[in-house]
Amino acid sequence: MTAYAELMEFQRQTEALASIAGRLGWDQETMMPRGAADQRGEEMAAIEGILHERRTDARLGEWLAKAVATDAVSAANLRHIRQKYERNIKVPAKLAAEIARVTSVAQGVWAGARGAEDVAAFLPTLENVVRLRREEGAALANGNDVYDALLNDYEPGTKSGDLAAMFGALRPRLVALRAAIRAAEAPAPMTQSFDEAGQLALSQKLALAFGYDLNRGRIDKAVHPFSSGSGSDVRITTRTNPVDPFNCFYSTIHEVGHAAYEQGIDPTYALTPLGQGVSMGVHESQSRIYENQLGRSRAFTGWLFGQMRDQFGDFGIKDEEAFYRVVNRVSDGFIRTEADEVQYNLHVLIRFDLEQALMRGDLAVADLEAAWNDRFAADFGFAVDKPSHGVLQDVHWSVGLFGYFPTYSVGNVYAGCLHQSLRAALPGIDDDLARGDTSRATGWLRENVQRHGGLYEPREIITRAAGQAPTEGPLLDYLEAKFKGLYGL
Ligand code: ZN
Repeated sequence: MTAYAELMEFQRQTEALASIAGRLGWDQETMMPRGAADQRGEEMAAIEGILHERRTDARLGEWLAKAVATDAVSAANLRHIRQKYERNIKVPAKLAAEIARVTSVAQGVWAGARGAEDVAAFLPTLENVVRLRREEGAALANGNDVYDALLNDYEPGTKSGDLAAMFGALRPRLVALRAAIRAAEAPAPMTQSFDEAGQLALSQKLALAFGYDLNRGRIDKAVHPFSSGSGSDVRITTRTNPVDPFNCFYSTIHEVGHAAYEQGIDPTYALTPLGQGVSMGVHESQSRIYENQLGRSRAFTGWLFGQMRDQFGDFGIKDEEAFYRVVNRVSDGFIRTEADEVQYNLHVLIRFDLEQALMRGDLAVADLEAAWNDRFAADFGFAVDKPSHGVLQDVHWSVGLFGYFPTYSVGNVYAGCLHQSLRAALPGIDDDLARGDTSRATGWLRENVQRHGGLYEPREIITRAAGQAPTEGPLLDYLEAKFKGLYGL
């Protein structure tokens, strides 16, 4: 057996175990009896321990030294395994264990502090998490930038300086667009109530319309929508809110975007390093283009309007045009996860700037809330009213996710680039969408992005698909054209 074959056999078992760990996580959010939490914690810790040993196993270094790539696929496999292995052995085992221990407790502390609107109750814990992740970043960075080292875990090959330039161009045009919309007249929100069974039925129809394969997936309810798994077992969750059916429908379409990426990967890559989405940003580009550029388009919402009338009868919206305006309604809000297309990235950019400052030691944890509130008021024009609407709203920092937030906006920027070339490649696509037929659009994404899995680096896959290096321009042009039209600006 060659070193490469031995390495890949070992890796395949690691991938299979990681897949099992992922499914335990899915189970915990959907099916697990409440009384099983402690036992599940122990089960998860056991499997994570095995995974950690395998990922830092010295034999990986020996195989990597001897293995020879013979084609693009084996070269990409070696690149992924090498990058992860070199990363994992840089972090001292004691530090890795300490991070796991502290972050598993921190999430509960954060939830308690958020419930009590008590920032001070969370700060000592956050101090600890920040200190540990800075230490880890320093171990990974080898004298280079600590934040870039952390960002690399979620968006490999991307530098925070490039993101800062891109987001720096995004922010003023989004602030201006938002201010103009705020001064214009907004459509009234829907006031009717929509039964859960009807929402779930239509949600499944939407999943199928976007090409989700239920033979290799399933849809369940969970508190927070997510997608999980890869290859032939990719599951999604959704949720319902009686007065906001769009929450259910667009969460479903979003998660189907993530799932379609995983289901669309070349099946020969399953249980190899190429068998998953290549980065958080590229993943989010798929969920966002499904949800927004396709799902919230005038053409597709026209079809959805008819579907809602069939499901719920007259629900107080008179025609497709009025429905399109309601679906794309822009309203003031504090919460990132509830934000519309115009405001979403402004929420992310706050977090990106603040977490860089925290990781580089330019901002003390004690000053975080004030910095958040100042920045929010500057971009949104009104003040944060309570911590759960501000600095305590997201779970990410409590579980040590620093470098993750920007990938949401990277995904939106990538979606803008992909959408521009998708439309150029598929004239008349709105006629399809108006019939609820996304197959040509999703087929284009599968062909140009999804099927490649981890074969190319994140920026490379977008560059190949979009025909040029990614920039913020197409997203901004799309948002300005769409919302100036909607609001008569
Ligand atoms: Zn997502």
